[in-house]
Amino acid sequence: MPELPEVETIRRGLEPALSSHRILSVRILTKKLRWEIIPRDFEDYVVNKSITGLSRRGKYIVMHLDNRAAVVIHLGMSGRLCLFEQTEDVEKHTHIIFNLSNRMELRFRDPRRFGSVEVAPPYSIASFPRFAHLGVEPLSSNFNFQYMKKKTENSTRAIKLVLMNAKIVVGIGNIYANESLFYSRIDPCRIARSLSEKEIKKLVKSAKMVLNAAIKKGGTTLNDFRNAYGEPGFFQLELAVYGRADLPCSECGNPIHKTVLGGRSTFFCPNCQK
Ligand SMILES: [Zn+2]
Repeated sequence: MPELPEVETIRRGLEPALSSHRILSVRILTKKLRWEIIPRDFEDYVVNKSITGLSRRGKYIVMHLDNRAAVVIHLGMSGRLCLFEQTEDVEKHTHIIFNLSNRMELRFRDPRRFGSVEVAPPYSIASFPRFAHLGVEPLSSNFNFQYMKKKTENSTRAIKLVLMNAKIVVGIGNIYANESLFYSRIDPCRIARSLSEKEIKKLVKSAKMVLNAAIKKGGTTLNDFRNAYGEPGFFQLELAVYGRADLPCSECGNPIHKTVLGGRSTFFCPNCQK
């Protein structure tokens, strides 16, 4: 499943290729995705409009149009958003095709159909309903020490669960939560309110560092956006603890422990993480 760094890498790869091009037509091959596609929305707000840029909110990619409408795309479990020459064969499980003025096609393909493609009418993206309950962006300045202090000081939940709560901060999935806690030397099971100010600062810094490293890795691995989307799976960050049960800790050499917290696999070094 694509996580925030993968989605951000895709956004960065596609933006220069899409910006300023016009959408000449939209072909809808499947309506039943996670949320049903509404063809009328595309006719009214998307066809014949130019793309002005791509942004990201959590794991949603937002394609902005010159009429101030937007197309909001979620890749779900297996979604791919790829550019093709118009002459290239349409692959199985392709659900929607944007025909562009540069003779390319942006195609959304998703075998498992947990993804979605929706239209936000002009001037409505700021109040798009699916964004209503999303927490702050981890790479933005809103995710900072003061904010996390407020979110942790009265919380009796494990710090890892706070970090993974999308209502607090979006896009820190299980892998990145495990890694961030390792780099901040905090035991994932610690009660959130027991963290010192120093630890909260370190945690915020580590989370940003881990996500940025993954984006950087994606940016270098996926230097060609077309190859990027043709490849199965996503790049693998060099992981310090995640998936490394019983292997030696990179800092102290003691074995990494595995436990389950909130139903998710949790990896940590009991010697380094207090
Ligand atoms: Zn260690």
